[in-house]
Amino acid sequence: ALSIGIVGLPNVGKSTLFTALTRKGGLAANYPFATIDPNVGIVDVPDERLQKLADIVHPARIVPATVEFVDIAGLVRGANEGEGLGNQFLSNIRNTDAICEVVRYFSDPDVVHVDGRVDPASDVDTIQTELVLADLGTLERAIPKLEKEAKRDKEKAPNLAIAKRLQEWLNEGNRAADLDMTDDERAAAHDLFLLTMKPILYVANVDEDALGKPVAQVAGQDPIPICAEVEAELADLDPEEAREYLDSLGLEHSGLETLAQAAYRLLGLQSFFTAGEKEVKAWTVRIGAKAPEAAGVIHSDFEKGFIKAETISYEDYVSLGGEQGAREAGRLRMEGKDYVVQDGDVMVFRFNV
Ligand code: GDP
Repeated sequence: ALSIGIVGLPNVGKSTLFTALTRKGGLAANYPFATIDPNVGIVDVPDERLQKLADIVHPARIVPATVEFVDIAGLVRGANEGEGLGNQFLSNIRNTDAICEVVRYFSDPDVVHVDGRVDPASDVDTIQTELVLADLGTLERAIPKLEKEAKRDKEKAPNLAIAKRLQEWLNEGNRAADLDMTDDERAAAHDLFLLTMKPILYVANVDEDALGKPVAQVAGQDPIPICAEVEAELADLDPEEAREYLDSLGLEHSGLETLAQAAYRLLGLQSFFTAGEKEVKAWTVRIGAKAPEAAGVIHSDFEKGFIKAETISYEDYVSLGGEQGAREAGRLRMEGKDYVVQDGDVMVFRFNV
């Protein structure tokens, strides 16, 4: 599943948010193992289209797409010095697809700020510095190996070259992801497993009364406003009570749901659907993926033996009352292996076994 590492300075509300994630009453109900790993929380990606499809096919269950959040503790100023970032920390964060940084915007004077004042831009700088320093450490270890390899094998020279360019770039305090790279260079850079190659999104942990109001940008991005304390309260409510509470705050979705959606967008992902009597289900696939890749999300055999995909756009499916209606109206398409999957496609795969 899509996995996002949560980082941030101490006392910004990471644990509060994470506790809310892992205590979800209504959310991620279809994920029975959500509580096995204390550092992992699973959140459903809200998608109103699922209910619309379910109203047509009346399935036994609805299965939304999910995002997995991983609590990555241990990032503080100077974390890369001394013993260095712990191995556990590094391996936890390396295995995630993206980073979500919680930034303190709330003002509560009872909660001590590590630097004595609430300053989102400065907090973001501090974390970026730590991640950049960790990456510089990685490059320092990788470059001598790449030099040896490049001597033995000319084809490895570009790997060494990009590592050196990245080292210069990071030395200026930049994130690896922001370096101008060709596709080949980017692929080579990915093999270095740098933390600052990962896409990052920012959560502004705001005061409750600031919810729904605009928040200041950090690092050139609009952060996602969340009140961690409200999320923690929401997590303790049953779905109906949670709905009422959200309504009373004038909010449509919980912050965690908004976060899951934002993560989806950040990573260039979309959903396609399968709709049957057993279940209506959202599946996650890259924007730009072709039909066989989508089939492979369901099962690798579907991709290997891919023949074609019976495809109905979400709009057609709903307006024509489902598969039968779409078929009769000539709106069910037989798509081949070069078909680029569109957001919301309702698909049935035909494959050889
Ligand atoms: P962490 O160190 O980043 O994991 O931070 P915690 O989640 O432990 O939060 C630190 C303190 O800030 C706790 O006392 C929380 O109750 C408090 N806190 C967290 N989120 C909020 C919030 O949205 N508003 C206020 N006023 N306090 C919060």
